[in-house]
Amino acid sequence: MTFYQRRLHVLLIEDQQCQVELLKVLLESQSFFAVQLQVTRTLAQGVNRLQSGIFDTILLDLFLPDGQGIGALTTVQKFAPHIPIIVLTAATDLNMGLAALQKGAEDYLVKEHLRESQIAKAILYALERKKARRQLQVQIERERLMARILEEIRQSLDLSVILQTTVDEVRKFLQADQVVIYRCYSPHVRRILAAAPSSSLFSSGDRRYGPQRGPDSNGEPTEPIPCQTINSFRQLPMNEMTLGPRAKDGVLIVPIRPQKPHQEDCLWGQLVVRVGDQQRSWLPWEIEFLCHLSSQVAIAIQQSALFAQVHYLANMDGLTGIGNRRYLDNFLEQQWQKLAKRHQYLSLVLCDIDFFKQYNDTYGHLRGDECLKEVAKLIEKVIKRDTDLAARYGGEEFALVLPQTNHQGCQVLVAHLQTIFKQAQIPHRSSLIQPHLTLSIGSATMVPSPNLVPKELIDRADRALFKAKRAGRNCHFSFAD
Ligand code: GH3
Ligand code: MG
Ligand code: MG
Repeated sequence: MTFYQRRLHVLLIEDQQCQVELLKVLLESQSFFAVQLQVTRTLAQGVNRLQSGIFDTILLDLFLPDGQGIGALTTVQKFAPHIPIIVLTAATDLNMGLAALQKGAEDYLVKEHLRESQIAKAILYALERKKARRQLQVQIERERLMARILEEIRQSLDLSVILQTTVDEVRKFLQADQVVIYRCYSPHVRRILAAAPSSSLFSSGDRRYGPQRGPDSNGEPTEPIPCQTINSFRQLPMNEMTLGPRAKDGVLIVPIRPQKPHQEDCLWGQLVVRVGDQQRSWLPWEIEFLCHLSSQVAIAIQQSALFAQVHYLANMDGLTGIGNRRYLDNFLEQQWQKLAKRHQYLSLVLCDIDFFKQYNDTYGHLRGDECLKEVAKLIEKVIKRDTDLAARYGGEEFALVLPQTNHQGCQVLVAHLQTIFKQAQIPHRSSLIQPHLTLSIGSATMVPSPNLVPKELIDRADRALFKAKRAGRNCHFSFAD
C-alpha cells in the first residue's frame, strides 16, 4: 500500500550517468509511491520536456553542461512555476543548496549521502508543502474577493445598488446560473428585489408596485424589479429555509437577518443561489462564504434603511406628509438642470390659502392643522404624472412642480385643482369672500436656461400669486397674463 494512489511523474535533469542509475534504483526501491521517471541530460532538454509533459516533481542537478548553480534553477522555475523542484548538490557545495532553498527550491539533496527513504520523503514533503501553499493561496484569493465585494457593497447606501451588486458578484464568483435576493414579508409573501442575471426575471405586466413619488421612507427600491417567481424556488418550503443555510438540488439558500437591538433577529429575506447541475454538492467554504456575505449584507441593509429614514425625515413635511421646502428646492434644482439640457418646459404653481389667519382664529390652531392636511391631500390629487411633485412651500402655501409641462398644460392642471377645491367645500365661515376655503394661485412656465437659476421661476410664480391676491383672491394668474 503506497502513500500516493497514483503514479508520480518525476523529471530528473542530470548529466552524470552513474547518478542517473543511482537515482533510478533509489526511486524504484522506495515503497512510498510508484514512479514514472523521465531523464534528460541537459538543461535545454529538460526545459523542452517540461513544455510537453506534466510532472509532479523535478529533480535538478545544479551542475549541468549548459547551466550551473542558481541560474539553472531559475531557468527551470521560469518554465515550471508550479512544480516543486528538489536540487541535487555535491557534498562540497552545501552553500549552493542553501542558496537554492532561498530562491524557492523545495529541498536540496547531497548526492553522496542519498538513501531511498530520504529521496522519497523529500518528494512527498515537497508535494504536500506545495499543496498546502496552493490551498492557502486559494483561501487568500477568496478572502480578497470577499473584501472587494464588501467594499463595493459598503460604498452604497442605496438598497437596490447593494442588493444588485451582491447578486451579480455572487453569481460571478460561484459561477452560478442564477442568484436572487428575496424580501420575506411573511411566511407566505415573498418578493424578488434583485436577480442576476436580471434579464432572466423580467416579464411584462408583472409590475406589482408602481414607482412612488416623494421621499421614500423604507429604503427599498422605489421601482422594484418586476418579479416572477421561479418555479424551482416556489417548491421550497419556507419554514425549513428560514433556520439556516440549506442546500438541495442545485439550490443553496442562506437567510438574511439584520440584528436589531433589543429584538430577536428576524428574517429579512433570503439569498438564493441556483446552478443547473442538480447533483452539484456545495462545498463547506461556499456555504461559509455565503453566510458571511449574508451577514454583511444584513448590516448594509440596516444602514441603508437608517439612511433612507433620515433622508425621509429631512425631506418630508411633518404635518402634511408631502415633500417639504428642502425637498422642493432640490427637486426644482434637479429638474432645472435636466430640462435645460433637453430644452423642455418646466412649470411651477404656487397656491396660498385665503384668509387662513382668520381660519385659525375662528376654528383654532389644531383645526387649522387638520385643514392644512386636507388641502395637501387635495393638491396631491391633482398630479397624475410620476414626475410631478406636490410639496408644502411653507405655512399655508403649497407648490406644484410640473416638469415637461407647457403653459397650456399648466392652465389645465390649475383649472382641475380649482374644480377639486371647489367641490371639496371646506367650510370657512370667517372668510371675507366665500363661506368655504378658497385658494389664490400663481403660476409660471419657463424653458430653464443654464444661465439662470430656479429662483427666477419661483419669483415669476410668486409675482403671479401676488396679482391673484390683489385681484380679490380665489383666482388664478399666470406670469404670462
Ligand atoms: P391671505 O389671504 O392674504 O393669504 O391671508 P392669510 O391669513 O392666509 O395669510 P397670512 O400670511 O396673513 O397668515 C398665514 C396664516 O397661516 C398665519 C399662520 O398662523 C397660519 N399658519 C402657517 N402655518 C401654519 C400651520 O402649520 N398650522 C396652522 N394651523 N396655521 C398655520
Ligand atoms: Mg401666505
Ligand atoms: Mg394665505
